[in-house]
Amino acid sequence: MDIVRGNMGWIEVIVGPMFSGKSEELIRRLRRAEIARQRVQIFKPMIDQRYAKNGIVSHSGLEIRSDLVHTALEVLDKVEARTEVVGIDEAQFLGEGLVEACTRLADMGKRVIVTGLDTDYLGRPFEPIPRLLAVAEEITKLLAICVRCGNPAVHTQRLVASEDLIVVGATGMYEARCRRCFEPQLAHERVEAEKTAAEKAKAAAG
Ligand SMILES: [Zn+2]
Repeated sequence: MDIVRGNMGWIEVIVGPMFSGKSEELIRRLRRAEIARQRVQIFKPMIDQRYAKNGIVSHSGLEIRSDLVHTALEVLDKVEARTEVVGIDEAQFLGEGLVEACTRLADMGKRVIVTGLDTDYLGRPFEPIPRLLAVAEEITKLLAICVRCGNPAVHTQRLVASEDLIVVGATGMYEARCRRCFEPQLAHERVEAEKTAAEKAKAAAG
């Protein structure tokens, strides 16, 4: 954002697949706000306990202290009146209240910076992030690098056998793939392969 008069709030959203550097970009923006002596609060969902209990950690190891929350409305409760900048990491896990919570914080005059996955493991829009994009002042879409071919990667490829919408994981369970190398049916195929293997084992045992 360039020139903002008075204490007007706004919403910035950083989207893209896993491994595209969203948390690093969030940390960079929050550090700069801290250098400018602004009061910053950072939140991340309780579901994401990959590395640190209290702290956003990006895949490259950058860290910044954060509060854990279950829902977006809990963010509203925990934001202090004097806070000027609110960072929310991995916001796709915070539920349908996300758009309302961010809108209310921005209406209160706060700068709200949110990261999230904009598509799921099948490449479909991953609510509520797409609706948040519609009301945001600024959108940054980051791309990862396809591990197959080195092209810019827009997709999060699930490698494990599961068809649940949310399966928390990192390296080994997911990888970045470009549009050409993305295999949305792979997770389904692996679920079917596991079923077949289990049936064969059962038949052999019986
Ligand atoms: Zn590729």
